[in-house]
Amino acid sequence: MKTGFVNIFGRPNAGKSTLLNALMGEKLAIVSKKVQTTRHRIKGILTEKDYQLIISDTPGIIEPKYKLHEKMMQAVKNALEDADVALLIVDVNENLEECNTIFEALKLKVPAVVVINKIDKASPDKIKEVVSFFETKSYSKKVITISALSGINKKKFLKPILELLPEAEPFFAGDDISDLPTKFFVSELIREKIYELFEEEIPYHTAVMINEFKEKTSLIKISANIIVQRETQKGILLGEKGSMIKKLGTAARIGIEKFLERKVFLELFVKVKPKWRENELQLKEYGY
Ligand code: GDP
Ligand code: MG
Repeated sequence: MKTGFVNIFGRPNAGKSTLLNALMGEKLAIVSKKVQTTRHRIKGILTEKDYQLIISDTPGIIEPKYKLHEKMMQAVKNALEDADVALLIVDVNENLEECNTIFEALKLKVPAVVVINKIDKASPDKIKEVVSFFETKSYSKKVITISALSGINKKKFLKPILELLPEAEPFFAGDDISDLPTKFFVSELIREKIYELFEEEIPYHTAVMINEFKEKTSLIKISANIIVQRETQKGILLGEKGSMIKKLGTAARIGIEKFLERKVFLELFVKVKPKWRENELQLKEYGY
């Protein structure tokens, strides 16, 4: 079974929502509005006999005026690289050079599939030109052309994407993520702060596990392990005399309180555990 995280990325109006609708069909209705995380906005889980795709989109930030803004690009890149495959969606009539500048600036390490959308609004020659433009780019494993609005051939569309996904047991039972545990979102909020406070190397090697989540009358008590692979990473996370972990704890608590609309007492511990793969670890832990 092919199982993996697919992250959709593209400028506003490129057709991300339309594509998602085409892929998910009536299944999309299951995804409740509550299911938003900060870095991952899980849009849908598509489960069939031989695959399960967890499809997210990447928070915006792709306007040309931002394109040289490194920190923002880093945020997009991090979100995208948390997936197994990135789908870079392009409107066939967009400015190609501009798109390419953005995609190149991401310096993606995960395989990317360029999806050229709205081919119903371009001549065959134009489509050919756009395909060859992207085919030669180093980030692009594959170029697909679609008209998300006219409807897609799901099997054909997914074939090259599934080829890039790992073999794994499904993370979710069925397609319903509306009851994704709050714990999952809380761990995402902690991870978000790790991304904000630490250099690239740390977030990449970090997973967050919630050990305790207890609702008390006046507050919610949460205790979480931050799992790293090496002692040196633990040292960085703790900081001098625990200064960094303290800062992280405060920032995360504020974010969690906003999300839960409750007062929160948050305890963080750093644990060294070599070799893990965060998504699997995290989701399996919750019994998926
Ligand atoms: P998003 O901002 O990337 O989510 O883009 P949307 O999916 O909301 O699409 C933006 C606009 O483009 C909408 O008006 C869609 O109907 C239109 N659109 C999306 N896909 C296609 C397509 O394949 N062909 C045409 N002609 N229009 C499309
Ligand atoms: Mg949209």
